[in-house]
Amino acid sequence: MKDSIAENRVNRRDLLVGTGALTGGAILASAGFSGAAAASGAPVKAQLPGFDAAAGEYVLPPLPYAYDALEPSIDAQTMQLHHDIHHAGYVRGLNTALTRLAEMRASGDFGLVKHWSRQAAFAGSGHFLHTVFWTNMAPAGDGGGGEPSSELAESLTESFGSVDAFRGQFSAAARSVEGSGWGILAYEPVSARMQVLQAEKHQNLGQWGVVPLLVLDVWEHAYYLNYQNRRGDYVNAFWNIVNWQNVAERLSEASR
Ligand code: MN
Repeated sequence: MKDSIAENRVNRRDLLVGTGALTGGAILASAGFSGAAAASGAPVKAQLPGFDAAAGEYVLPPLPYAYDALEPSIDAQTMQLHHDIHHAGYVRGLNTALTRLAEMRASGDFGLVKHWSRQAAFAGSGHFLHTVFWTNMAPAGDGGGGEPSSELAESLTESFGSVDAFRGQFSAAARSVEGSGWGILAYEPVSARMQVLQAEKHQNLGQWGVVPLLVLDVWEHAYYLNYQNRRGDYVNAFWNIVNWQNVAERLSEASR
């Protein structure tokens, strides 16, 4: 299943690169995958839509189809506003948040780290989820709708019992998200299975799509016996026991 998921990721990239070329040079250039990365032999990841590796900033990937391509399921005006206004706002917000965080690292003044971490989580999740969302859809009868391939159906059946059972849970989860949010089918690496999750909003307080490499438990149960309310001392002591080799291995695994 791991292989098929990786394969899907590659196919998605190919789809976007291929159709991106049809949408015009300006959009393609702004999307940051003009082919320069491929020509220079850069890692595959640099070619993924949504990030311009040369400029070092996030960019709005073009829709892989026309605004009206999903009608009547989703109308053209909704698609245009959703992509060009809402998604673009997330991209701007993420770039701004990461610029502010870089300024903090440079100055050593982390006074606003809570605010800009929240902004990075909000805008980052928005950017990453929308980038996946557009590619999760295709015109009905032209890649959209129908049934999953037998390989994907087998993976869904392993995780959920059957394709219908998955569809039932996903629909129910999406329908019942409280307030704003998402229904999400996610790969869960500990068991190598998939799970259906609800994201209420999406900024509480992580970025969907990232892979954790180094985590520090700051629930009170993790330090209270020794440190009581002195969480800062516990955080400082963490650096005496951090396993950098493990972090390096996780980074290598996640980025290959
Ligand atoms: Mn949206």
